[in-house]
Amino acid sequence: MSFLRTDDELARHSYYNATASRTHGFGTLRSSVDCDVAVVGGGLAGLSAAIELADRGYSVVVLEAQQVGWGASGRNGGQALAGLACDQSVIEKQLGMEAARRVWAMTLEALDLIQQRCERFSIDCDWQPGYLSLATNARKAQELRASHSHLQAHYGDTSTWINAQELPKWIASPRFHSGLYDARSGHLHPLKYSLGLARAAASVGVRIFEKSAVIALTQGPTAKLKTAHGEVRASHVLLAGNVYLQNLAPTLSPRIMPVGTYIVASEPIEPAVLHSLIPTRSAVCDTNFVLDYFRPTADHRMLYGGRVSYSTATPRNLSASMQKRMACTFPQLADTQVEFAWGGFVDISMNRAPDFGRIGTNVYYLQGFSGHGLALTGLAGKLVAEAIAGSAERFDLFAKLRHRSFPGGALLRTPALMLGMAYYRLRDML
Ligand SMILES: Cc1cc2nc3c(=O)[nH]c(=O)nc-3n(C[C@H](O)[C@H](O)[C@H](O)COP(=O)(O)OP(=O)(O)OC[C@H]3O[C@@H](n4cnc5c(N)ncnc54)[C@H](O)[C@@H]3O)c2cc1C
Repeated sequence: MSFLRTDDELARHSYYNATASRTHGFGTLRSSVDCDVAVVGGGLAGLSAAIELADRGYSVVVLEAQQVGWGASGRNGGQALAGLACDQSVIEKQLGMEAARRVWAMTLEALDLIQQRCERFSIDCDWQPGYLSLATNARKAQELRASHSHLQAHYGDTSTWINAQELPKWIASPRFHSGLYDARSGHLHPLKYSLGLARAAASVGVRIFEKSAVIALTQGPTAKLKTAHGEVRASHVLLAGNVYLQNLAPTLSPRIMPVGTYIVASEPIEPAVLHSLIPTRSAVCDTNFVLDYFRPTADHRMLYGGRVSYSTATPRNLSASMQKRMACTFPQLADTQVEFAWGGFVDISMNRAPDFGRIGTNVYYLQGFSGHGLALTGLAGKLVAEAIAGSAERFDLFAKLRHRSFPGGALLRTPALMLGMAYYRLRDML
């Protein structure tokens, strides 16, 4: 993986890494182990599945190449949101309105699951309710309003519309026209949450191994997973490796594209100033295709995300360019310094819908969260556990979604995507 070194540096330099402590280390696999289910990947998807499977009485092994929470799960914007990365119309067109409603309801269940797990396992991860989805101009406001009306009419969505006159009460920024407030969505410290889930998994009997990359998978009624120093034999396998799986599942990787997205955390800000910027302390996203996403942290910083990279190389001058972006949204922060800059890779699918399914009968996979997986990974793990335990109906609803590979194969799909994104970026400016 050409971007691994830089990627590892990004993981290590995050604000999250500096503010969460890894009290539980997990050893490396150095033997041959049998289990019911082997999970590849110690991110939120893998850990969630592991907990749900252990709850149902299965013996579970999680194999993580680096450390639990090292990937997107421990580095993301922390925004736990209702819905999917794609518009509901994508699901309606493919599965029909009735099924689309069930999918939407599951995205809300995903938010509840976070609360239930925090309570059950005493995970303190700075949960803060509230989410603002904001349009940057009148045309985008019209699109957002139409989508809101559709969600209200067909899904019973409870978000509130905020018109242009009211918006200054919600956010002190000149960049936005109007938007939506959703009280059910919110934000949290994703590394604290991921580490909490890993501790929780261990507490219900899951065996977790770190620094244990799976280098070969042999399918069969008993699947074999090889690591550098050991082997796991399992009746079922879950691949939850995000963009890092690569050669382990050659049929899956062409269906997702690794896209880099970047975040900075400011120095601590005077609490009254931070409060004046977003009085509800909500998470915020604009509705642009290449979007800006930001939120206050529990220790009074502004955490500001945006920018994308399709080349897997970290952009130059990350701190300075992101500081400029933050100051464009909040001129009040023009002199506020950036203390942390990091990023990671999202696994976008062609249609931005999640890509869940099976390879053969006993190898499951979860991918294609498309930058909207903080909450949905939890639910996805639960669906895999249900399916392995014999109730595959909810998993299969997602598995029915059709996905296409990115055009151009491994070498050309990035340039092809860059062209497509250049078009959308132009649209964002109109
Ligand atoms: C910068 C950034 C910001 C984001 N912001 C948000 C947000 O605000 N809200 C939101 O909803 N979503 C957001 N996302 C997306 C969200 O973080 C992901 O959808 C989610 O964390 C995916 O979880 P995962 O478990 O599938 O993958 P990951 O957390 O990436 O975990 C996969 C793990 O698998 C391991 N692995 C891979 N291959 C192997 C192997 N062969 N052997 C062993 N282990 C292996 C990796 O080391 C990794 O730890 C963001 C993502 C990024 C990168």
